[in-house]
Amino acid sequence: MAKKYVYFFGAGRAEGDMKMKNLLGGKGANLAEMAGIGLPVPPGFTVSTEVCSLFYANKKRIPESVKIEVEKNLKRLENTAGQGLGDPKNPLLVSIRSGARASMPGMMDTILNLGLNEKTVAALIAKTGNARFAYDSYRRFVQMYGDVVLGLKPVHKDEIDPFEAIIEQKKHERGVKNDIDLTAGDLKDLVARFKAAIKEKTGHDFPEDPMKQLWGAIGAVFSSWMNDRAIAYRKLYDIPESWGTAVNVQLMVFGNMGNDSGTGVAFTRDAATGENIFYGEYLMNAQGEDVVAGTRTPLPIVELRKDDPKAYDQLEKIRHILEKHYTDMMDIEFTIQQGKLYMLQCRVGKRTAFAAIKIAVDMVGERLISEKEALARIEPDQLNQLLRPIFDHAEKEAAIKGGRLLAKGLNAGPGAATGRVVFNSVDAEAWAKRGEKVVLTRIETSPEDIKGMNAAEGILTARGGMTSHAALVARQMGKVCVAGCGELLIDYANHTMTVKGRTIKEGDWISIDGTTGQVIEGKINTRPSEVLQVLIEKTLAPAKAPVYQTFAKVMTWADKFRTLKIRTNADQPDQSANAVAFGAEGIGLCRTEHMFFGEGKIGPMQEMILADTLEQRRAALAKLLPLQRKDFAGIFEVMNGRPVTIRTIDPPLHEFLPHEEKGQRAVAADMGITYEKVRERVESLHEFNPMLGFRGCRLGIIYPEITEMQARAIFEAAAATKKKGIGVEPEVMIPLVGHVRELADQEKLVRQVAAAVMKEQGVRFKYLVGTMIEIPRGAITADEIAGVAEFFSFGTNDLTQTTLGVSRDDAARFLGPYVEKEIYAKDPFEVLDRDGVGQLMRVAVERGRRTRPMLKIGICGEHGGEPSSVEFCHIIGLNYVSCSPFRVPIARLAAARAALSNAPRPAAKKSASSKKPAKPKKPSRKR
Ligand code: ADP
Ligand code: MG
Ligand code: MG
Repeated sequence: MAKKYVYFFGAGRAEGDMKMKNLLGGKGANLAEMAGIGLPVPPGFTVSTEVCSLFYANKKRIPESVKIEVEKNLKRLENTAGQGLGDPKNPLLVSIRSGARASMPGMMDTILNLGLNEKTVAALIAKTGNARFAYDSYRRFVQMYGDVVLGLKPVHKDEIDPFEAIIEQKKHERGVKNDIDLTAGDLKDLVARFKAAIKEKTGHDFPEDPMKQLWGAIGAVFSSWMNDRAIAYRKLYDIPESWGTAVNVQLMVFGNMGNDSGTGVAFTRDAATGENIFYGEYLMNAQGEDVVAGTRTPLPIVELRKDDPKAYDQLEKIRHILEKHYTDMMDIEFTIQQGKLYMLQCRVGKRTAFAAIKIAVDMVGERLISEKEALARIEPDQLNQLLRPIFDHAEKEAAIKGGRLLAKGLNAGPGAATGRVVFNSVDAEAWAKRGEKVVLTRIETSPEDIKGMNAAEGILTARGGMTSHAALVARQMGKVCVAGCGELLIDYANHTMTVKGRTIKEGDWISIDGTTGQVIEGKINTRPSEVLQVLIEKTLAPAKAPVYQTFAKVMTWADKFRTLKIRTNADQPDQSANAVAFGAEGIGLCRTEHMFFGEGKIGPMQEMILADTLEQRRAALAKLLPLQRKDFAGIFEVMNGRPVTIRTIDPPLHEFLPHEEKGQRAVAADMGITYEKVRERVESLHEFNPMLGFRGCRLGIIYPEITEMQARAIFEAAAATKKKGIGVEPEVMIPLVGHVRELADQEKLVRQVAAAVMKEQGVRFKYLVGTMIEIPRGAITADEIAGVAEFFSFGTNDLTQTTLGVSRDDAARFLGPYVEKEIYAKDPFEVLDRDGVGQLMRVAVERGRRTRPMLKIGICGEHGGEPSSVEFCHIIGLNYVSCSPFRVPIARLAAARAALSNAPRPAAKKSASSKKPAKPKKPSRKR
């Protein structure tokens, strides 16, 4: 049997279903699904995404065999509808709708009322007795076809669509304000003018033959897959080009047949707040994109209860049917034709992070989904939005009292944003690149604006409702958005806007509150989110913080399912306390060198570096000892028995000395030595490539007294903490080990100090000595290293640098372009390079645990808080990930999702205990 490329749906049956998204696109699959469960869907058929690939492989032509299949399905549609395409008595009219696998709002263009020409429009009039409706449909068709298929749509947003210009002209001539006020005759005239414009601009007549129209439209949908907007959107959301779009051909139903007709869009819950209410907008006597285009301001869905109670009740029912069927919040499109309701689209609704989390948590409560499903639905990075700032309440009140409230729009994307006003996307991007905070301010946004929206702190529009492009995309991006703020009079040409008699110029500060819809003149400072106020500032009681409560539930569930432990990278007691509040179970990386820059420590540190003799160095180190000890004791106390990994000194010594003459002179004066001496020492420490130079364990090997001092500070702090009755679990970590003998050298020192301190202090405490795996040799010889190391921690920042042979600090010039060229899919310093660096990690885990089955392994590089990297760490069987305090919640959720979506890990941890006990081996070379 030949391969099937076209799938029919309608009248309670469908050849496809919602599981066939890859083939039918999201729209096609869900139309089929809705038709299949008996919802009122106008019949039609879907040309599969595979045809999109064929189209591009076939010089942008639809293959003959597919054409035959389309024609067969068209016949079937004609039979179902009892109409014929181009039939002069009973014409079939269809819409041509794109639909990719992932929904790409507004990316692809839809054509409505296809099949109209001079003959069929007459038939439509005869059939409906409604000439106004017929010509309204006709002019829309010619306009959409002209814009989309014949390419008359302007490229730049500030240019005006030629058809819109003609409409404005006509309205002006007729002295009316709204499209609605144009008569049948006016609309008929518009059709003629549109066609003339098309002829003038393209040199061709508008195609009268409906079959020609059909093929033109289908081709245009496939072609739009490769337009700039679509490409930009795919880039932003990681949608592969190979997916392609499907094309849906569907029987038209008409919302513009009069006041008993209408069209609308809705969410089955509030997409901004997540509240369980029916949320939508509609317009009577309107068609297609009227609701979202912002040309007429739509009514809230509850009003439909008055306008058409029957349709409203049916919609409410369908809302529940869909939520139960899909077990999710859905975004729907519907049309009412002369009192009869039709469903035109449904898809899982986009939502803010607030809404995503609230809906997932609520649906668990409603028993629609399980805790596991709830976790699967919350992207770890979405938690970020819960941690985002809100306006400082007092400052905002003062601003409003001071008369700075400019206007109120719709609260389309919650959060607080303050920035400088820019009026187009290009400027938004350029200003943001220079480090400016901007608020993108537009009459309305469209897909061309995506890059600018992404670059802006917030988005403000004058037109459009809660489901307008701006609102939809802002929510998806997690941007603050105030939409439909009708009081703003925006003047693109002069880069100004006026509101309440005041003029705001490009570059002026403005503040928008996406939670209330307020637009306020000037800058307003922001405050930490509810979650932070509860957990970190402790200024808000959990009971008074609903957002926090929802957050806490998600965290509780995440902890139930994750197997990875989560630690934090912190070198101060307060950072550590924050991390514990966020759920950290230990410290995975305490960088001792950060401490040296603290109060009173840099002096002795410099003294140590400038010392000429061992005695002088020891004298300087003796000054550092009590300072470091105090730092460690502070951290141990806060961590209260949780493991704390402390890394011995890592950066090259010259980092602690000033490189400028002025600074060097100051140091010389402080130390009572000559400036020349300081300068000489700085010069002698100079390295061509410090990243690969005299740093890491190399320092401790050449200057063992440094390691000794640090070990002593750690263990004396541990002893003191233990004496206070507080648990303590230090883990001393030796950095940059490539050869087991490097580690063995340092380990011996550390253990000697530990034994000495225990004896001196008369207490015993547990401690571990381990190493960072951050250079390839260390990873490859992990079996030998594990003979000495009691734990590994992957330093994936350096491991990425050394594996790729790329210095991160020098990579800016080429790594960006590399990612653009897709040489690396993602910046490998952001998202762990699984195939390269990841393979070394795998090898190190396997070999390390071959020697020491119970080997504790973690990661402390920046990747430890990045969801995809966390997943990889789970897959290869690490015990923990460690990340910055504010990413701890994200890592907790990412770890839970990794555990839920991956097979049980090969971790040695528990199962290993049944095997032979770990017996550290002498370094050996058999493999
Ligand atoms: P998008 O991908 O931008 O959502 P759609 O294909 O959903 O585009 O089309 C946009 C609008 O056109 C729909 O919301 C709907 O109102 C209208 N529309 C599409 N197909 C039909 C149809 N067969 N009958 C009536 N209206 C339609
Ligand atoms: Mg569209
Ligand atoms: Mg749609």
